[in-house]
Parts: sequence; C-alpha cells; structure tokens
Amino acid sequence: MTSFESLIRAVPDFPKPGVTFRDITPLLADGAAFARCIDAMAEPWLGSDVQAVCGVESRGFIFAAAIAQKLGAGFVPLRKPGKLPPPVMHADYQLEYGTDRLEARVDTLRQGERVLLVDDVLATGGTLGAARNLLGQLGADLVGASVVIELLALQGRALWPESVPLHAVLHY
Ligand code: AMP
Repeated sequence: MTSFESLIRAVPDFPKPGVTFRDITPLLADGAAFARCIDAMAEPWLGSDVQAVCGVESRGFIFAAAIAQKLGAGFVPLRKPGKLPPPVMHADYQLEYGTDRLEARVDTLRQGERVLLVDDVLATGGTLGAARNLLGQLGADLVGASVVIELLALQGRALWPESVPLHAVLHY
C-alpha cells in the first residue's frame, strides 16, 4: 500500500521564496490512495448527522465533494470573489502568500444546518478562520473541519476554537 507521504510532493520556494508548497496532485492521481484519503477525512464524522460539507475553492472542492458523498450530505462551495451570483456574504483572510476573500450565497444553508468544513491544507489558519466566519454569518452549526495536511510550524490550529474538532490526516 502506497503511503500518503510518498504521494505528496514538497516543492521548495513555490509559489514564492521561502514557501514549501505541498503538492497533492500525485495523491489525487492514485485512485486507491485518494479513496483512502477520503475515508480518513470522513471517518471522524460518520454518524454525526452532517447535512452539508463546505469546501474551500479550489483544492478543497475535490475533497469536500467526495466526503459529502461518503457522509450522505450535500456539497456547498465557498468560492473566491466574483464567482457566485449575488446576493453573497463574504469574509476576508490572509494567506501564507497574499490575501483573499471567500464568498457564499446568502441562501446556501438553512439556519442551524450541520456543516463539515473541508480544505486541503491548514497553514496559518487564515483560510479556515474566514470560512468559519462565513459559516457563522450563514447561521450554520459547525460540526468540525477536515484537512489533508496540517503544517504544524505555522500554528494555524491556534486560530481555531478548541471546542470544534479539527482533523488532519497528515502533519508536517
Ligand atoms: P492558510 O490560510 O495560511 O491556512 O492557507 C491555507 C490555504 O492556502 C489552503 O487553501 C491551501 O490550499 C493553501 N496553502 C497554504 N500554504 C500551502 C502550502 N505550503 N502548500 C500547499 N497549499 C498551501
């Protein structure tokens, strides 16, 4: 069985000097490993009555849609600015490299809907923090979050509330 670690490429100084980019495309290209990764990301929330899985554009979509199928839940995209038709709500955030904004349709979720948040990488935590902010504005009940990779040195978990479970398959 191929290890997840061997299917994640570390690319030094991309997209800018000093950043080690964790490229998940080899993992996605290995069907068996991709399926195991989806199982590992979904497993903590089996039986938790998750109603919607929210994925962060764009790599979060890949995992969130597959996890939604696994959990029998719907998929909701949290998108980059200007992609969704209005009316939208937004939350701004800082990336490890740059700044950005997430948007969601105001009518995306029902009040109190049980939501799992999904992305590929937790780095500084800004993205997941903004996504959590957005889901709060939408009235979601955030059950937890699942990522493939947590970059421990960047301490993104410090921005995340301890009361909400945050699951990472791999840690670097
Ligand atoms: P952050 O907001 O700093 O936690 O950054 C997380 C987001 O940026 C995720 O959506 C990732 O796709 C992307 N990202 C940040 N740092 C990296 C990295 N070193 N390798 C791959 N993706 C990254």
